[in-house]
Amino acid sequence: CGIVGYIGREDVKETILSGLEKLEYRGYDSAGIAILNGDGIHIYKDKGRITNLREVVDFSQMGTLGIGHTRWATHGIPNRVNSHPHQSSSERFTLVHNGIIENESILKKEYLQDTKFTSDTDTEVIVQLIQKFTDKDGDVPLAIRHTLSLLKGSYALAIIDSENPDVIYAAKNKSPLLIGKGEDFNLIASDAMAMINHTNEFYELQDKEFVILGRDEVSIYNLYGIKLDRETFKGEIDA
Ligand code: GLU
Repeated sequence: CGIVGYIGREDVKETILSGLEKLEYRGYDSAGIAILNGDGIHIYKDKGRITNLREVVDFSQMGTLGIGHTRWATHGIPNRVNSHPHQSSSERFTLVHNGIIENESILKKEYLQDTKFTSDTDTEVIVQLIQKFTDKDGDVPLAIRHTLSLLKGSYALAIIDSENPDVIYAAKNKSPLLIGKGEDFNLIASDAMAMINHTNEFYELQDKEFVILGRDEVSIYNLYGIKLDRETFKGEIDA
């Protein structure tokens, strides 16, 4: 299973699809991508291989911001509906997740009694909570940090807000996630292998950190919203 995200100035589809192919060795049963452009959010996903995913992607949809996922199902059978990306009910937020949320049913009971869930995944609770807290305070980074502080279990996450075409949000806890720094783009992925065709400069992420990725800058915070200083490091990897 794996995650790839890209925000830059060129079309993202091939970068994300080939990045996912580099993560195939980790194993998966389903794959999907989401692309944000002027027409809104476009999601392509299905169970099966990335070659199948390539057949369902509409290559005429261009976008400079996107996320991708390969799924190793833990909650809910491998099928199209349970494949990532997942969306909140309003379709404002779109998210990919690797890992397992252990307190999913408690969170549903406590915060999401009125929410209609569309998938059988543990993942959907994350995106629905982000929506719920955003509706309450209108502050998206705060809503995401609030959600992260409630999660028990493991996660690597990449999140798109359809109302903000200039950022990808990301976070991790006990699942791998690395940031790649480019000249006029930034990337995230489970593994440097998925990014080495684009950059060899990376930021390491610690557990329970929260990232805002723009086209030209990367900002890393703790869950209290305090901005952290982080130097990049150069990776030496054979392609
Ligand atoms: N637990 C999530 C699911 O079953 C994510 C699995 C993964 O890590 O790919 O959909």
